[in-house]
Amino acid sequence: MKKVIQLSILLLTFTVLGQNTYLHCGKLIDTETGTIETEKTIIVSGTKIIAIENGYSSTKSGEDIVINLKNKTVMPGLIDMHVHIEQEFGPRTRLERFILNESDIAFNSVVYSKEILLSGFTTVRDLGGTGVNISVRNAINGGKIEGPRIFTAGKIISSTGGHGDFTNGAKKGLLDDPGPEDGVVNSVDDAKKAVRQRYKNGADLIKITATGGVLSVAKSGDNPQFTVEEVTAICDAARDYGMHVAAHAHGDEGMQRAILGGVKTIEHGTYMSDETMELMKKHDAYLVPTITAGKEVEEKAKIKGFYPDIVVPKALAVGPQIQGTFGRAYKKGVNIAFGTDAGVFKHGNSGKEFGYMVEAGMPAMETIKSATITNAMLLGMGSELGQLKEGYIADIIAVNDDPTKNISTMEDVVFVMKDGKIYKD
Ligand SMILES: [Zn+2]
Repeated sequence: MKKVIQLSILLLTFTVLGQNTYLHCGKLIDTETGTIETEKTIIVSGTKIIAIENGYSSTKSGEDIVINLKNKTVMPGLIDMHVHIEQEFGPRTRLERFILNESDIAFNSVVYSKEILLSGFTTVRDLGGTGVNISVRNAINGGKIEGPRIFTAGKIISSTGGHGDFTNGAKKGLLDDPGPEDGVVNSVDDAKKAVRQRYKNGADLIKITATGGVLSVAKSGDNPQFTVEEVTAICDAARDYGMHVAAHAHGDEGMQRAILGGVKTIEHGTYMSDETMELMKKHDAYLVPTITAGKEVEEKAKIKGFYPDIVVPKALAVGPQIQGTFGRAYKKGVNIAFGTDAGVFKHGNSGKEFGYMVEAGMPAMETIKSATITNAMLLGMGSELGQLKEGYIADIIAVNDDPTKNISTMEDVVFVMKDGKIYKD
């Protein structure tokens, strides 16, 4: 054990000093062609991949290091398009909203960030929290804490009483009526203000709650909660700042309004009709399935007291639908972007989503492409992330088995490199 630790420290030291790292890869997934190549060497210098060579290349200098991944399957770092890095849902979540300070949330996020990174997700899209997520992103980028590269929505945008109205269910007089800055909007003008406020606060993208949701303390899990005009105003304002819009949506009507308004990704998509699937294709929108979250809420709703009473029937109705809808959407040719809603379940478990997607009919290689090349493109990082190629950022992971033969291997990532630095070996 001591030797392993010493070796890890040694490896990290060498990486920091800028020697080249030679990764000898038994199997290597080409996410562009969807093929598995064998016996390759990835050469990493600093934060970048500088070459990929056939066979197992020898080092050029005595300072270079070799990582033996000859009996592993190597692929680009995974990207989860739907996480909440600030939280992990549990029976105390409702209370925690009133007792946790931002500093408490920040410390929790430090723990979750590391768990996410060590599970092989080197990049995530954070779809909403208190705004601490922006500081977490900055701390990771600044090398102060360990975690995935984060693209964050900051605070969600909702309507009064909507899924993202954090004052739902609170006693009268305890909280003020929230406005656009807090993320609650009720007009086109409010909508624009809220988007511009998020830009000002440092968000990378916008998240709206287009319909009711499961875990909010409100009755409906699927009613539409914005007008088309409001969604359009949000998407237009976001475009001005180079931001895309993600829409939480379970109900079909709210989903249609979101797509017509111009959102790029539909999160969950639970009650999506065939007509809406066609609309998704026509508008080049992407479905982010979050099957793992669906399974989690279905299971936890059966434990008395885990969720507030008003949440239980919604969880039992929505949870079991998500995987089936995803399977239908995939077969109909809807674009799929891998995403899990981690934070609704415990961080570090997003790899389960791959198995659920395969179970619903998506081939394993397609699931990996959705979590790498597709998501990199959606984040505007298609020429830097999502592939193992010369010139790309060295975000590289490895698993024990060939995932096209055993998809559960994605739940156990054994090697993690991000920006050329090894975090797990
Ligand atoms: Zn979510």
